[in-house]
Amino acid sequence: MTAGYRGRFAPSPTGPLHFGSLAAAVASYLDARHHDGIWLVRMEDLDVPRSMPGAADDILQTLSEFGLSSDEPVMYQSQRTSAYEMALQQLKEMNAAYLCACTRREILDSALHGIEGPVYPGTCRNGIFSGREGKAWRVKTNDEAVVFEDRLQGRISQHIESEIGDFVVRRADQLFAYQLAVVVDDAAQQITHVVRGADLLYSTPRQMHLQRLLGLATPNYMHLPVAVNGKGEKLSKQTLARPAEQSPDTMFKVLLFLRQQPPDDLRSASIDEMLAWAKENWQPEKLAGFKQFAA
Ligand code: GLU
Repeated sequence: MTAGYRGRFAPSPTGPLHFGSLAAAVASYLDARHHDGIWLVRMEDLDVPRSMPGAADDILQTLSEFGLSSDEPVMYQSQRTSAYEMALQQLKEMNAAYLCACTRREILDSALHGIEGPVYPGTCRNGIFSGREGKAWRVKTNDEAVVFEDRLQGRISQHIESEIGDFVVRRADQLFAYQLAVVVDDAAQQITHVVRGADLLYSTPRQMHLQRLLGLATPNYMHLPVAVNGKGEKLSKQTLARPAEQSPDTMFKVLLFLRQQPPDDLRSASIDEMLAWAKENWQPEKLAGFKQFAA
């Protein structure tokens, strides 16, 4: 029992829920329930151009068919613009954010390659060259190590300025960036435990940087192995992952994927019985150190 545990699953509605996302949903749900905690669903439908019409409802429907429903009303990022605006305003007032006029091409040409593509070289940090118009907002970073202890991946340390660079919090198309939105919403929903895919492991220091600037609490993090296909690519809409088929067999496969070693006689159980077993026997440490598994 962890007092006040609040966890969440935060899908982006870019397509139907596939096996990898279902596994992440189940893991976050089991971790919350194992700790007698609250489990929430947040729809990360901020990136309207990438969202697929109908996908949000479809994901919620699939989750509920697998016995997973949010304990509180689902939060939609598309309705949270004013909260993100306030956070950006706070950063501006602290002189921690600045307008950037660089194009993708310019950044590519002038940047060193970092862990997630080009490291922004800080071109606009001290002002925009005259005649240029800044549309995106970046947050200033520094080169102090941001360190956290991930429950599965161990100690992670990142020097954001040299490994990522000042990063975008509001895009040139005026959409708020994932990094800002996730921090504002995890705080608004008072999330104490984040359980999500290891593809986001190296985003966490950026989120912690924003939490510190905005005076928000840092949740506890656990980054799960992501499901990859035979080519080692993360299952996603881009890799044409199939929607998760609603059946006890799929749930059993999720528990196998999560290395929970479900007993064989659970194979013939209902989805609810499987979840009840898995909640009691939840052992996330079986996933320690793994960043991906073949699905
Ligand atoms: N919406 C993100 C995704 O689907 C997950 C964000 C998070 O869990 O922090 O990849």
